[in-house]
Amino acid sequence: MAYQHYRTWGIFLAQENRGEADQLFFIFTLDFGMIEVLAKSVRKLTSKLRSGVTFFYLSEIEFIQGKHYKILTDALPLEKFENIRQDTAKVKIARGLGAVTKFFLIRSERDLKIWALLKDSFNYLNSQPGELIQPYFFWNFLGLLGYLPELYRCPLCQKKVKPEIFYLIPKEGGLVCGHCASGLEIDRNEREFIKVNTVKLIRMFLQKPLEVLTRLKVDQPDLENLVKVSSFMLGSFQEFKNAI
Ligand SMILES: [Zn+2]
Repeated sequence: MAYQHYRTWGIFLAQENRGEADQLFFIFTLDFGMIEVLAKSVRKLTSKLRSGVTFFYLSEIEFIQGKHYKILTDALPLEKFENIRQDTAKVKIARGLGAVTKFFLIRSERDLKIWALLKDSFNYLNSQPGELIQPYFFWNFLGLLGYLPELYRCPLCQKKVKPEIFYLIPKEGGLVCGHCASGLEIDRNEREFIKVNTVKLIRMFLQKPLEVLTRLKVDQPDLENLVKVSSFMLGSFQEFKNAI
């Protein structure tokens, strides 16, 4: 029986060991979105696949649809992102991009916007200082999936977000003003204080192309709040997922 071979480009985002020498790869691809592909015997030194399957390589891959899994039959590295590999801080960011993508898209359809966001983010990380790319990626990624919280008005009183106290409260739908937040019976871990500058940065990320980051100077306290709010937002999805 002849199998159809599928060829596409993909970025290797995560992997799990299977059996004695196999690995299951999570690859975001140009043509099929996120796929899981089993690479047989890839942990053996003699495997011809080994050169193309390293974490966050952009590779040209070929696979067949097996009975239970897609099976990797070829992987040719196109871009190894060497500058990321030589910098442990950048490797950590790359892992973060991969983890977020895998978390939301265990399996998905072809999505050229997410493909472009992911590939451009890796290219950016490979050539520029990396601290803003993770939040830029994260908020745009949420936007493409339609998961953004309300960022312009308090969902409870409809007041516009302006320089005063606001909290990000995902279960209320977005940025809640200090007045409304004080009347809510919620746990401390269900809200996060958000600086006005963080709100401005997130809105800018959602409106501007990636290149805006090269011209952006962000103070350390603002950067810390941005990182904290972003990981809080991600955490709220994880809790949601754990609860169902
Ligand atoms: Zn309000």
